[in-house]
Amino acid sequence: HAKTAGKNRYCIYDEETNLHTLRKLELEKGLRKALQMQEFDIHYQPKWDADAGKVIGLEALLRWRHDMLGPVSPAEFIPITEETGMIVGITRWVLRKVCEQNRSWQMSGLPRLRISVNMSIRVFESGKLEEMVREALQSSGLNPDDLELEITESIAMQDIEETINQLNAVRAIGVKISMDDFGTGYSSLGTIDRIPIDTLKIDQAFIRQSALPAKQAIISTIIAMAGHLQLDVVAEGVETEEQIRFLQSRGCSVMQGYYYGKPMPADEFYAWMKQLLRDG
Ligand code: C2E
Ligand code: MG
Ligand code: MG
Ligand code: MG
Repeated sequence: HAKTAGKNRYCIYDEETNLHTLRKLELEKGLRKALQMQEFDIHYQPKWDADAGKVIGLEALLRWRHDMLGPVSPAEFIPITEETGMIVGITRWVLRKVCEQNRSWQMSGLPRLRISVNMSIRVFESGKLEEMVREALQSSGLNPDDLELEITESIAMQDIEETINQLNAVRAIGVKISMDDFGTGYSSLGTIDRIPIDTLKIDQAFIRQSALPAKQAIISTIIAMAGHLQLDVVAEGVETEEQIRFLQSRGCSVMQGYYYGKPMPADEFYAWMKQLLRDG
């Protein structure tokens, strides 16, 4: 511990802690007004079906530009919005924006795409999920089938009965559910079949190391299990042709990753998609 490491070490440790605390306080202060200051933006990353050779959906990823500090990674700011409870209001905003954007793309002639939104455990705890989803669908006029929620294993495991109830409620509306980052969390095989989901997303950590036989075995097992449970499967973080060949050889054709497209601002995605449709 720092205190036993001598006086100098103690000072350095203290300064680092202070800097960390100061930045966090600064970010928290910034986040409190970020919605109202319109500092949030949503980027869209394609999900590509390699068998069909087309985009079948998108994932919505939140972006934040702090007025002084510039862009801050979701890995840093999402946890703060969760600790403070701000994530509930932010998710309401994301759901509304995503449904409006999707509807507007459909009206402008793009093929129908399903867009997924990441969910925090706090949203489930708030008990407002169903209401927020209904509101976003109603105000946008979007078909519920074109909206998907991404949950994580930790959400599923927290209060499993309550999670199942809330997921059933949104699924009854017609909204799809996927399990994000699958394979790295805490869910057991005994509970995964109880959670009402439509899709498993294989964690990018496995894909990154998919040249290793042990990781290949795990990926193959997840794909086979998804098949047996009649779930769709998506591979995340696909960056190379080798990874694509391997995944296709094991029966996974839907992929998301930098190889096919990075997360893009809405107008950039629209132009990218138009180009793709022109090129055939
Ligand atoms: P996630 O939901 O697992 O999203 C995938 C992350 O992987 C995104 O990072 C994406 O940009 C990145 N990614 C996609 N393809 C590749 C690839 O080929 N290589 C690599 N190295 N990375 C790739 P991002 O946008 O920084 O988001 C990080 C996490 O923050 C997300 O992980 C999600 O857990 C959370 N997040 C983002 N937006 C939201 C949101 O609106 N609400 C909530 N609750 N969480 C969000
Ligand atoms: Mg996700
Ligand atoms: Mg993920
Ligand atoms: Mg992740």
